Amino acid sequence: MIRKWDGGRLVIASHNEGKVREIRALLAPFGADVVSAGALGLAEPDETETSFIGNALLKAHAAAKAANIPALADDSGLAVTALGGDPGIYSARWAGPSKDFAFAMQRVEDGLAGKSDRSAQFICALALAWPDGHAETVEGTVSGELVWPPRGPHGFGYDPVFRPEGYDITFGEMDPDQKHEISHRADAFRQLVARCFKK
Ligand code: IMP
Repeated sequence: MIRKWDGGRLVIASHNEGKVREIRALLAPFGADVVSAGALGLAEPDETETSFIGNALLKAHAAAKAANIPALADDSGLAVTALGGDPGIYSARWAGPSKDFAFAMQRVEDGLAGKSDRSAQFICALALAWPDGHAETVEGTVSGELVWPPRGPHGFGYDPVFRPEGYDITFGEMDPDQKHEISHRADAFRQLVARCFKK
């Protein structure tokens, strides 16, 4: 049975304060008192699973157990059809230790050499876990095509090469508010709110 959010404290299993701020604002209307894993001094587990949902669950379960309150975690990335879903869960790791996304985008482009299918999806998995081990998960997506060369100053990661379906600009060229309306993260949060936060 689907478990609904019951109010009270919720830990976000992320040490990224920007992400935590965004989630706090999104969930405030539902009575969620959001705290970050960083503020509680929780360790970040290694992302050892083989899917977005698997990694989100791993992080949410670890934080829920350690803090003894419900926990929300996400995992996201770019899945390129002609690369069999790569870089996928390795999207951050493709940029290397110096987080060089110009390098990561070039690596994707090199992989597409000679291939006509340039379709890709951004994917965002969310997991909401309780200390007793129950969890709810959703997966949001946005489909598009990869362009070359990269375009636009906005966003982060692979945004400058991703042109969402129905638009002729990339996420890198798009006003951030507009991206936040149509992104994989927006889709995932809409699904999670409908599933667990709406009365
Ligand atoms: P995570 O923080 O482990 O979920 O890794 C996410 C990685 O996927 C980021 O480092 C980016 O490389 C990529 N990614 C996820 N969402 C986006 C997005 O909205 N735009 C661009 N890249 C993204």
